[in-house]
Amino acid sequence: MVRVRFAPSPTGFFHIGSARTALFNWLYAKHTSGCFILRIEDTDEARNTQESLEVLIKGLRWLGLDWDEGPEVGGPYGPYFQSQREALYEEFIERLKQTGRLYEQEGALYFKVSGKPQLIDDLVRGPVERLEEKDFVVVRSNGKPVFHFVNVVDDITMNITHVIRGEDHLSNTSKHLELFKAFGATLPRFAHIPLILKSTGPGKMSKRDEGALIEEYTQRGFLPEALRNYLCLLGWSPGQDREKLPIETLIQLFDLPDINPNNAHFDHKKLAHLNGEYVRELPLDAFVKACKPALEPQGLVCSDAAYLREVLGLAQEKVRAIEEVPHLVRPLLSDDFIINPESRELVFKKGDPKARIQDFLAYLPQIQTFDATHLEAALQSLAQSKNLEPSHFLQPLRLALTGMHMGLSFYRLMALLGQQKVQKRLEKF
Ligand code: GLU
Repeated sequence: MVRVRFAPSPTGFFHIGSARTALFNWLYAKHTSGCFILRIEDTDEARNTQESLEVLIKGLRWLGLDWDEGPEVGGPYGPYFQSQREALYEEFIERLKQTGRLYEQEGALYFKVSGKPQLIDDLVRGPVERLEEKDFVVVRSNGKPVFHFVNVVDDITMNITHVIRGEDHLSNTSKHLELFKAFGATLPRFAHIPLILKSTGPGKMSKRDEGALIEEYTQRGFLPEALRNYLCLLGWSPGQDREKLPIETLIQLFDLPDINPNNAHFDHKKLAHLNGEYVRELPLDAFVKACKPALEPQGLVCSDAAYLREVLGLAQEKVRAIEEVPHLVRPLLSDDFIINPESRELVFKKGDPKARIQDFLAYLPQIQTFDATHLEAALQSLAQSKNLEPSHFLQPLRLALTGMHMGLSFYRLMALLGQQKVQKRLEKF
């Protein structure tokens, strides 16, 4: 049975690259009906806080990446925190001593390398050969075993069959192979997945880059399904130009040899677009529910549930993420909105907006039914009577009614505002 693990070192952040590593492990476990293990590599005591752990756990749960063994769920190979596996590491140090491959120097324990090149038969990159030339430390002079050692001991004792991790670890793998072999352990298969690069430029995405942390997306009201779908596409492709796919299909199609060995560029626009597609698929009630936590802190509340539903229905057609909703719907939920100076400048650059608003105000009493269809027809005949296009009226009206020059579906917005409010706002403007 396939046993894979996600082995984060909690740092207080959940980086998008880590999340993608977790996802690829999870996908592979699901694809093979294997076991997905969460192992916490918390040997760095300074960073190892309860909060750091919670950031990870919350992020994984939010993305729907449930684990079969690990913290909170337990399992037969625990404990799943390296900080709780010291006895096991001591036992393995003893075993290594017995092979005659350990020696002490200045208080640290060194592992004597074999001198043979190590073949990493990588499932993504193909065969890579590396020679470990120098003996390396396995236990520091302070008595702490190093990352390479505990990582390998855990992979051995947890019966890990596939090590799927970031390409930044490729340079460690020859050391790891030396250790696996010294223990006479079965070698896992390796799959080193490419790095995620910034959207522009050659650099690796760091935690300071916009959009680098999972926490950011939860706060900005992205949908976890959309982010998860997007992360699948970072370094892997379901083929046939397909992008948006249900997770069951992605699981079915996913396989390690299909991972692209080239580094993947993070694409904010593509993610936002995909998120928008997921947003539009939400049932309206779910969308309303998802919007409320974004609206309430901005004082945007509405006691008329039916009206709020209609307003948010308009927003749902337009937004790429929930974070865009409050601004867009504010003029429908409150009279307290500002006229955006850039929008104003844009609108006033063309034609005569004040005259168009006056034309419309004069025409207003003739509009019998204040709904989207009648408003559209009204604007058309008004424009025709003035030898103008409806577009000459649209932007000035939108500016006066919402403070923006672009936004929600206009006639429906106007209908929702209602004749009285429309008239008042236009007169005030
Ligand atoms: N703790 C290591 C990391 O976060 C794990 C590396 C591995 O997956 O083997 O990079």
